[in-house]
Amino acid sequence: MESCIFCRIVKGESPCFKVYENERVLAFADINPIAEGHTLVIPKSHAENLWDILPEDLAAIHLASQKVAHAIRTALKPSGIAALQLNGRGANQMVMHYHLHLVPRVGQAPELPITVWDLKPGDMQAIERTARRIAAALA
Ligand code: 5GP
Ligand code: ZN
Repeated sequence: MESCIFCRIVKGESPCFKVYENERVLAFADINPIAEGHTLVIPKSHAENLWDILPEDLAAIHLASQKVAHAIRTALKPSGIAALQLNGRGANQMVMHYHLHLVPRVGQAPELPITVWDLKPGDMQAIERTARRIAAALA
């Protein structure tokens, strides 16, 4: 896709700091890192989001993310790594080419903002109702 920045990176038309690649997947450093070592894992074939991506590419991304996470652990000795993936403008997806963020927290770096939220008990009836609606949509 000509207008897609990540497709341009895959084709070598835009630069990136490559971390890993195989025939389906490319992993490279995020240029606006939330934390040191912030890495993106993408399919080489354009797909916008979780709804669109080929199952084979989805599997390849998660297998590659395990390799990259091992490498991040070896290189940076983080106390944890967040794996995050956004779908759709409503979820603040900014680049409309599927990407999995791997965001390590190293040493005394600040808490990763994406991992901190208040745990408030929900309305159990509403939770059950919604779970049933999602399960019914799967049937
Ligand atoms: P999103 O909100 O879509 O999940 O995040 C998109 C991510 O892509 C952001 O973290 C942003 O910093 C990163 N990004 C956007 N453009 C480029 C680019 O040209 N090169 C690299 N390496 N990362 C990019
Ligand atoms: Zn693309």
